[in-house]
Amino acid sequence: MAADLSAALDAAYACARRFHDARAQRRPNAAATVEWLLDAFGGPTPEAGSDSRTVIERLVTAADPGLTGSAGARFFGWVIGASHPAGVAADWLTSAWGQNGASYHSSPANAVAEHVAARWLVDILRLPPECAVGFTTGATMAQVVCIAAARNELLRRAGWDVEADGMFGAPPISVCVGDEAHASVFLALRYLGFGERRLIRIAADASGRMLDDSLRAAIAQVNGPLLVIAQAGQLNTGAFDPFDAIADATHARDGWLHVDGAFGLWARACAATAHRAAGAERADSWGADGHKWLQVPYDCGYAFVRDAAAHRRAMTTSASYLPPSVNGVIDPSDTVPELSRRARGFATWAVIAALGRRGIAEMIGRHCDLARRMAQRLARHDGVHVLNDVELNQFIVRFGSAGSSAASDEATRRIIDRVQTDGVCFVGGATWRGVAVMRVSVISWPTTDADVDRSADAIIDAWHGFQRES
Ligand SMILES: *Cc1c(COP(=O)(O)O)cnc(C)c1O
Repeated sequence: MAADLSAALDAAYACARRFHDARAQRRPNAAATVEWLLDAFGGPTPEAGSDSRTVIERLVTAADPGLTGSAGARFFGWVIGASHPAGVAADWLTSAWGQNGASYHSSPANAVAEHVAARWLVDILRLPPECAVGFTTGATMAQVVCIAAARNELLRRAGWDVEADGMFGAPPISVCVGDEAHASVFLALRYLGFGERRLIRIAADASGRMLDDSLRAAIAQVNGPLLVIAQAGQLNTGAFDPFDAIADATHARDGWLHVDGAFGLWARACAATAHRAAGAERADSWGADGHKWLQVPYDCGYAFVRDAAAHRRAMTTSASYLPPSVNGVIDPSDTVPELSRRARGFATWAVIAALGRRGIAEMIGRHCDLARRMAQRLARHDGVHVLNDVELNQFIVRFGSAGSSAASDEATRRIIDRVQTDGVCFVGGATWRGVAVMRVSVISWPTTDADVDRSADAIIDAWHGFQRES
């Protein structure tokens, strides 16, 4: 058994080393087709087992051609971090240690690692020191935790006990959401009993920023409990909502302000970008990711809630009373929906220790500089339109004409495909305000100037190739 463990770990280690060492050469898109992968992983249900080493070697053979280069330097699709080495190693140990992260008693080390890492996060993001923190699987679940705390506390103030009486018959809550909010906000609201048709959508400007005039007008129309959801870092443009004006309007009505800051909240960790998210500290809760800009391996998100008691009431298993802490260290399961769960504190603790406050700030500033550099390099060419001010690390590009045109939609989609096939870099596509765009997100720790220049050149080559052929 012991020999089996060493052999399996040695095989995994050798494979991880090969994968890591070949990252610079690897094509960012997966090479294998779904048919190939179904065949490679497939076969009937195994009747007899195999030794662990053989299984791991078979896993590597089947998986490798189906892996993307999202942990590499030239992957700009979606918003995906690149698993910092300290986080990867801590994550391996998390599995090897096999801790159940539910309570202090099931893993004292994890509970304290989460407790300390939570304080570091609050400090680095310059959030109110009284915040409680739940370690979640990602920003979507962070949003669920925050909005559950908001919902239950708003209703408690209105004389309704959600933990005891549930949602049926509860006083209605007015929920205001920006028109360009991330899809996960609507998902979180749905999980919590707020159907999409009963949300109040607030108009946004051309960058996707919520218009505070429209919010004030909407708030003036409603009575009773109020929840406002703002955004730090719009998915396509990186834009920030005007938090001061939103906080004034929300708090004047005793509302709860939640901020979706999956990646954008990290702007607060860097002096060059902090002003973009100014005022966000006035919110009541914030959702952020560890697996995006902080480079913690998946899954990792954080729910920050200013009212620690409201947070625990919404998440604890022992509904109406708050279980005691051990020297201020609370059970991790009192901060998130799960009971048994991964010991999520170790990887975050390790990545923050490895980068330090200065390393995190440097990385965020560098990614924003790289995004600007790449956007400028693209925009020098005729027919290439960068549609947003590059405020952060995200930008969108369109080919042909900037405005609405079926031919440019088609060109933009074809160029995204072509870039993917060429294999120098990976970019995503989206529809932004009715037109097709290429999305670029610079968020991987290994990315350098040279990677960005090479990738911009590959995108331009694809555009020129497309023009020659049409
Ligand atoms: C990625 C993202 C989310 C969702 O985060 P997950 O970690 O995928 O659950 C929410 N909001 C924004 C702005 C995002 O970019």
